[in-house]
Parts: sequence; structure tokens; C-alpha cells
Amino acid sequence: LLLLLFPACGHEPVVKTVLVMDTVAQLTAVDGEAGAAVDESIALLQRLDRVAGTGAESDAARLAAASGTGAWVEISPEVYEMLEAAQDWAARTDGAFDVTAGPLVALWGIGTDHARVPAPEEIAAARSHVGWQRLELAGDGQRARLLSPGMAIDLGGIAKGYALDAVRAIYAAHGVKNGMISLGGSSLYALGKNEHGDDWHIGIRAPRGETAQDYLGILPISDAPLSSSGDYERYFEQDGQRYHHILDPRTGAPASSGLYGVTVILRGDHAGMMSDLLTTALFVLGEEKGRALLKAADLPATVLFISPDTTAAYRLGEALPAGGASLQCILQK
Ligand code: ADP
Repeated sequence: LLLLLFPACGHEPVVKTVLVMDTVAQLTAVDGEAGAAVDESIALLQRLDRVAGTGAESDAARLAAASGTGAWVEISPEVYEMLEAAQDWAARTDGAFDVTAGPLVALWGIGTDHARVPAPEEIAAARSHVGWQRLELAGDGQRARLLSPGMAIDLGGIAKGYALDAVRAIYAAHGVKNGMISLGGSSLYALGKNEHGDDWHIGIRAPRGETAQDYLGILPISDAPLSSSGDYERYFEQDGQRYHHILDPRTGAPASSGLYGVTVILRGDHAGMMSDLLTTALFVLGEEKGRALLKAADLPATVLFISPDTTAAYRLGEALPAGGASLQCILQK
């Protein structure tokens, strides 16, 4: 009876932590071929880091080098898939989510040791190189090009989410039904139960909490990814102003839609990639426009919009009771 109640009980989980994709990834597999699943997943994350990151050998670097020449660039199938989703949502968000924001991301350098507030003319120059309509996919799953010189893509708003789905597939192939895939804590995928047979519990960070362990609420979650984006993740302050890493391509500056953070939970195919992409898009759009987008897209996402005074929660664009303790109930629906 105990075993029935706690199906995952009795397994010693395999847990490995690696620095990859600019974050601390922690992979936990409770059952199945746990060791093989975790090792294969780490190799995959390292491969994704090479192709989808910003290193010299990355697809982004090669696309940028060929920008404006008209030449098609061979890219990895994984990056092609990310770009397809990115283009779809760039259109739906009217460019609020735009992977061609690369020149702006590089200019601000937020999260790096050369972060600074650029001059207005520098921002204007970088913005002139941004525009998802000038990123072209060949339609063959293999090639892309940037149509004008000086353009660059940045997959920071989507790559970790893509990785969650890919690791999830590796876990499934190895019979791992219970586990946790955490990429820095703000992008994660909870599978089944933890090693004690309980739901995984995820703390939603209080954006102005004193430590990263200050939570607005703790949510039980199972068989779904959860992604958060906020102005408290990567930022610097100058003259009392906070400059964070989610940029509004339309202004060229950090998005200021009145939100501190957005959390998305979504089930289904590509849920990891979609939840990651959506947090960035919704953060830029803000609560009102974000809600309209969710309604129009008919996405069964549960979304928390965290603003200075309130936490608003929506499912399919409809309001849910939210705030404090009732955060708990939201996800059980
Ligand atoms: P992280 O979890 O690493 O903090 P997010 O999912 O919050 O990442 O996305 C932020 C990242 O997305 C930025 O660091 C940058 O690389 C990229 N980015 C910033 N603004 C945009 C935008 N408007 N559209 C698409 N990508 C963006």
C-alpha cells in the first residue's frame, strides 16, 4: 500500500549540477535509467549552449557574420526550430518578442561586466539593426539569413525553454517519469513526484525580497514546466534607476510595462519553449496587452503578473483569485 501511495519511493535520485547556458543547471532523475538520462541530458545542454549561445562558433555568430550579404547560413535543426517559434510570436506580439534584438542586448551588456547605460544615439543605431521581418528562414529546416548588415540574433529568451523540452524527451526515452530539470531555477520542468513521492514545490520569488529565498508563494507542480522572468534576475542600478535584461525592441531600453515579473505554467507540446518565450513576451507587453494576447492565442497557460502591489493570475486570459496563500490553489485547477 505504501508503495502504491508513493510510487517514486525507494529510488535514490541521481542529481547532477553543471554550469551551462550561462546558468546553473541541476538535473534530477528519480526513476528509470536515471544515470544515463542525466548524462545524456548534460551532453545535450552543452551542445545547445554551443549552437544557441553567443560564442564564436554559435549559429548566432555565423548568422551575424553573414548579415546583409544575402548568403544563406546553415544552422542547427534545434536553432531552426527556435527561430520558427520566435518568428511566429514576434508576429503575434507585434515585435515585443524579437530574437533580432541581439544588437541591443550586446549594447546594454546587462548581466556582463561591461553593462552600462548607452547614449541615445547608440540606442538609435542599435535599434536600426533590429527587426524580425528582416530575419528570413529558408523553409527547409536548415538555413536562415539576416537581411541587412549589423543584425544579430539573441536566443536568451527561448533557448533554455527549448532545452527543457529536449531534456524532457531524453528523460522519457530512458523511462524517467519522476524528476526535476532546473535551468537556473527560473526555467524548470517538474516531472511526476520527488523522491519522497510528493509533488515538487516551487517557490515564486518575491521580486523585491531580501534574498532569493523570499517567496510570494510556494506552488505544487507536476508534469509541467514553469518559467519566470523579471527585472530582478539580471540588472544593474545607476542613479537610483534599475536597468534590467528584458529589453523593449520598440524603445531599445529595458521594458517598463509596470511589472516586476511574470511566471508562466503551461502543459502540452513544446511547453518548455513556449513558457520561456511567453514570460519574456508578456513582461514586455505588460498585464493588459499580455492578457489580450493570451485570450487571442487561446493558450491554456496559467500566468502570474507580478506588479509592485499585486499578483494577478490568469488562465486562458480569465482572472483567477490570486495573491499570498491563494497562489497555492491556482495550480491545482
Ligand atoms: P533568463 O531566464 O536567462 O533571465 P529570460 O527568459 O528572462 O531569460 O529572457 C531574457 C533574455 O532574452 C535576455 O537576457 C536576452 O538575451 C533576451 N531578450 C531580451 N529582450 C528580449 C525581447 N524583447 N525579445 C526576445 N528576447 C529578448
